[in-house]
Amino acid sequence: MILDLLASDSLAFVSCAVVLGLLVGSFLNVVVHRLPIMMQREWQSQAREFLGLPDDEDRVAPFNLMQPRSCCPQCSHAIRPWENIPLISWLVLRGRCSACKSPISCRYPLLELFCAFLSGIIAWHFGFSWQAGAMLLLTWGLLSMSLIDAEHQLLPDALVLPLLWLGLIVNGFGLFATLHEALWGAVIGYMSLWSVYWLFKLTTGKEGMGYGDFKLLAMLGAWGGWQVLPATILLSALSGAVIGSIMLRLRNANTSTPIPFGPYLALAGWVTLLWGDWISAQYLRLAGL
Ligand SMILES: [Zn+2]
Repeated sequence: MILDLLASDSLAFVSCAVVLGLLVGSFLNVVVHRLPIMMQREWQSQAREFLGLPDDEDRVAPFNLMQPRSCCPQCSHAIRPWENIPLISWLVLRGRCSACKSPISCRYPLLELFCAFLSGIIAWHFGFSWQAGAMLLLTWGLLSMSLIDAEHQLLPDALVLPLLWLGLIVNGFGLFATLHEALWGAVIGYMSLWSVYWLFKLTTGKEGMGYGDFKLLAMLGAWGGWQVLPATILLSALSGAVIGSIMLRLRNANTSTPIPFGPYLALAGWVTLLWGDWISAQYLRLAGL
């Protein structure tokens, strides 16, 4: 009955997606904050094991996406369930911890809002369908890996690789492309940036990208097929050049400051998956073809 309503009433489906996006956004806040720390702890414990050092005492306590429970970084006040309602709790608490009144960053509600906004767009664009469900998962993944890359210059394999497989699996059912197109999308996506990387490194001696970027483009190719690669590369280079130079200007940084490329790839891939056909039609029309 609910499914019938969602299928027949697009506004109902979009509203559901927006609410779901708020809830998921709240969880993505945890992922974006904790996943890089989890990766660091994993590397350190591997290095200790390799060097034959004993395990660190304070590293025995579990640290993952579920444990320990969220608390205020200032006073360690444990966040109660009613203080954890996306957006609403932040507004009710007026952006302050309920115990010590120290300010809570507005990035938390902003991420929840942005996640809800993107989820709403997906629901509106695809309607009630398997495509919408799959694209919601991809959108949430791209959002969290972009934020982690922007902050830490890391694209976690734990997010990129499962989504690469998922892209191949959903296209096993022909959701966005044929399996054949998806396979070559993944291969060519990886190889194209890999060759640019080595060409750049051999000619200039500098590293312009990381291996995470190759995997991310492979993932986008697995979702949209090889057809999405040219527009994705073009759009990411364009947006990277424009936004990157503005940010450099604002921060007054020099050109050797590393700029993560992952967020631009993610944005370009997402836009191409949604509006790629329209973009190439406009392009061909402008080119007079
Ligand atoms: Zn506090």
